[in-house]
Amino acid sequence: MANHLYQYSILSALMNGICREGTTVAKLLTHGDHGLGTISGLNGEIIIVDKEVYHFLPDGNLREVEPTDIIPFAMITRFEPTLTKQPITLNMSTISKELSPLLPASQNSFLSIRVDALFTRVTFRVIPAQSEARESLSELAKRQELHHATHSRGVLVGFWSPGFTSGFSVAGFHLHFLSDDRAQGGHVMEFDAEDVVLRAAAINEYNVEFPASGEFQDEPIGEVLAKDLHAAEGQ
Ligand SMILES: [Zn+2]
Repeated sequence: MANHLYQYSILSALMNGICREGTTVAKLLTHGDHGLGTISGLNGEIIIVDKEVYHFLPDGNLREVEPTDIIPFAMITRFEPTLTKQPITLNMSTISKELSPLLPASQNSFLSIRVDALFTRVTFRVIPAQSEARESLSELAKRQELHHATHSRGVLVGFWSPGFTSGFSVAGFHLHFLSDDRAQGGHVMEFDAEDVVLRAAAINEYNVEFPASGEFQDEPIGEVLAKDLHAAEGQ
């Protein structure tokens, strides 16, 4: 179904270091063509663009995934934009305004977002893999490496999540970058773009699948503070 969000597991699980088990790439792709996530052991970042799935490794390399690869957290939708804008420039501070009228008219829904542009500068991180079981996303974020691309044609894919979903998702923007030459990408911290095509849609149906057994059910997953989530996700 178009513009219906499917999510596997919750961000609070990653914050508790629960990220070894999960669904597979093949199963995930039955739910859409546009999304983001991570891979088993938090060994990097995942982006789904037009149903192609890429894995950015912590060493900066990028690989196309195998259908059997394990995905412990992902958000995916079948993207059908209802808003298209071609502003000359776009950055993290202007994106809310440019998403008008979806923001604020759909401010308590999720938004799916795609930005095709020439990135004059984009800063992104690739999360380093866990060095031991249950190491949390916050701990890993402390030793993440920031990468920059300049004058790079590429795409941002991701979501805007309303505040009340914090813990399931990270409230606000969550975008992953992929360069058109498929050489670089990761979890976006900042960007400045020109020659932009911005596309978006409101999402009013949200389906979350919890892992039914295994590490996800081992211990209670408590409340995760929004400030800790933002510190770990950098936005
Ligand atoms: Zn991310």
